[in-house]
Amino acid sequence: MAKETPQAIRGTQDIFGAEAEAFARVVETFERIRRLYRFRRVEMPVFEKTAVFSRSLGETTDVVSKEMYSFEDRGGDSLTLRPEFTAGIARAFLTDGWQQYAPLKVATHGPLFRYERPQKGRYRQFHQIDAEVIGAAEPQADVELLVMADQLLKELGVADGVTLQLNTLGDALSREAWRDALVEYFQDHKASLSEDSQDRLERNPLRILDSKDPRDKPFTADAPKIDDFLSGEAQDFFGKVTDGLQVAGVAWTRAPSLVRGLDYYRHTAFEFVTDRLGAQGTVLGGGRYDGLIEALGGPHTPAVGWAAGIERLAMLLDDTGEAPLEVAVVAEHREQELAAEGLVTAFRRAGIVSELYATGSPRKRFDRARKAGPEAIVSLDVRDGTESRSLKLLNENTAKAAALNAVFEAFFAGSA
Ligand code: ATP
Ligand code: MG
Repeated sequence: MAKETPQAIRGTQDIFGAEAEAFARVVETFERIRRLYRFRRVEMPVFEKTAVFSRSLGETTDVVSKEMYSFEDRGGDSLTLRPEFTAGIARAFLTDGWQQYAPLKVATHGPLFRYERPQKGRYRQFHQIDAEVIGAAEPQADVELLVMADQLLKELGVADGVTLQLNTLGDALSREAWRDALVEYFQDHKASLSEDSQDRLERNPLRILDSKDPRDKPFTADAPKIDDFLSGEAQDFFGKVTDGLQVAGVAWTRAPSLVRGLDYYRHTAFEFVTDRLGAQGTVLGGGRYDGLIEALGGPHTPAVGWAAGIERLAMLLDDTGEAPLEVAVVAEHREQELAAEGLVTAFRRAGIVSELYATGSPRKRFDRARKAGPEAIVSLDVRDGTESRSLKLLNENTAKAAALNAVFEAFFAGSA
């Protein structure tokens, strides 16, 4: 009996073809933008001690209570595959002495792991791009991050139909007063809420507003709004953020019941949302997390950041094509194979996208090359005992034509 092939883990993806190209474009665009804004690149471990996440995200959050991949390693330590970047970066800020660089602007990307119900745009291993500013109390940092996110979406060509939803959660006092009002309000509707939200009512009432359960939705709309509880300072902070967006020409809408899934947020909270992805419409989310570093045992350190799902952004891209093939080099005769290898290398070293056709039946190579849709085709042949070579443009792209010709001529100048 044939052995069964082990299947991929549910909720993981093997990304290939146009999707992989789109994924790469998201990362490349992010890399370019983060350099423009002078965010320094960091590489972070994929796993951390479980406490890094449980202490910073909060025990009552969905991520910590239901979604973490935690396990005991052979040494008996409880470890967790990172469900997000921020907590690990905050840990490194403390353990690696990064305080000396504050305000520190860092960016990273890579895989994250959450035990979720897999569906379109929701996976158990997914990927994010991430940007954080640590040790910055001023609203300028919030603005810089939001403007950067906006520029990223525009340069990816996905900004149409994506809106920035913005809220403030106020400072600790405002948040506390709002929380009390929410408890009072939801208490009256307790019996109609989902089981999860009844549970949240005790532990973390703000997060009822973040519920995706249709049973909770009718009540979230009429719930008390943060605006009635904002201190003067918190209003001022929010005003400076919105003034900054105004001057940068970044459009936004107020989303008074937007709270983020994690406990550590203060002041600014935001999501870039689209209706083009069905239920998984949030492509980028973030906010200010002034309480996080303290939760990890560090000094009071204000910070703000965001993360975006690479898969969700990639799904929005229109043009996901691979780089066009600029020249196909065909050895139509076996004796020309080595020359063709040399020539294709010369093209590539000159920055010209090239492919070599020098294997299989020589009669079929030219047709195979044409099918790949190159902009130019080079044929190296031997006819009646004499070498023949040609460079033919299939696309009138004059700028490339000059470069192609120059490499072609230079390559054969030596051997002629
Ligand atoms: P959601 O509300 O969709 O569960 P979230 O609030 O849990 O998102 P964050 O923790 O803010 O998400 O992560 C930021 C971004 O990462 C999200 O906006 C989304 O684009 C992406 N993301 C989060 N979880 C997943 C997942 N399981 N699969 C794919 N992308 C995800
Ligand atoms: Mg989630």
